[in-house]
Amino acid sequence: MSARGATPLRCDRLVKRFGDVTAIDRLDLHLDAGEVVALIGLNGAGKTTFMRLALAMIRPDGGTASVFGRNVATAGPDRWRAVGQMIETPFAYPELTVAENLWAAARLHGLSRSQAPGSVTWVIERLGLGGYADRRSSALSLGNRQRLGLASALVHSPRLLILDEPTSALDPAGVVLLRDLVQEAARTGAAVLVSSHHLDEVARVADRVEVIHRGRLVGELPPRGLDLEHAFFEMVRAADLDATESSALGGSSEEVH
Ligand code: ATP
Repeated sequence: MSARGATPLRCDRLVKRFGDVTAIDRLDLHLDAGEVVALIGLNGAGKTTFMRLALAMIRPDGGTASVFGRNVATAGPDRWRAVGQMIETPFAYPELTVAENLWAAARLHGLSRSQAPGSVTWVIERLGLGGYADRRSSALSLGNRQRLGLASALVHSPRLLILDEPTSALDPAGVVLLRDLVQEAARTGAAVLVSSHHLDEVARVADRVEVIHRGRLVGELPPRGLDLEHAFFEMVRAADLDATESSALGGSSEEVH
């Protein structure tokens, strides 16, 4: 199957264990082109682990993840070039300037020598990095490092964008810039998966909110029209209650569906 037209991200019954801890527990999720899906959960719920599995940064113990119709374990550069991501601490070459880092990111994602400069200029401007373009990335503040990480994820106009806590270090202006970029990317057909603890921000940007708890997706919430915080805690509490009841009945979590 060709990459174009294929589902940007599809995960089926993914499982990841770290020793005795089941970090991801039979998780199913798919993302269609043009939608923004927010993943919300408590600390340790499994958001980052799930994103790392989806990006083939770690291997699952069960299930599959595919990008544009190809299992991530075997997906080639044609698939990965269409993906942009920022997971945890944004990566940047410390000795390179902001502009040089973005040039490298653009070229690594398949932009040609003639395409890269325009894209670098565009993304520097959109993330408000103009005053820092010639500064080494090692000399950036935390928030500007995050802006650079986001710029690197966006410079090649990816069709699948995966962002883990993208606003954690941003100032309010940065939050607005990112929101506009995410919405624009989705309008032009990109699929976006974003994790966040900022529920008000999620409510503004997401089409769909998925709640992850103890490595499982426990439900979906509409981003607008209700008290998201309240609904989130209710959902988490109900999931805990279910788990307690099923263990009192003697079922192991592996047997609960
Ligand atoms: P947070 O909101 O705090 O960032 P999270 O939802 O991203 O949390 P994860 O980082 O995915 O949660 O962690 C899920 C579970 O897996 C936790 O219990 C965590 O301790 C465990 N875990 C994650 N990575 C590892 C690892 N490399 N080794 C051992 N345990 C891990």
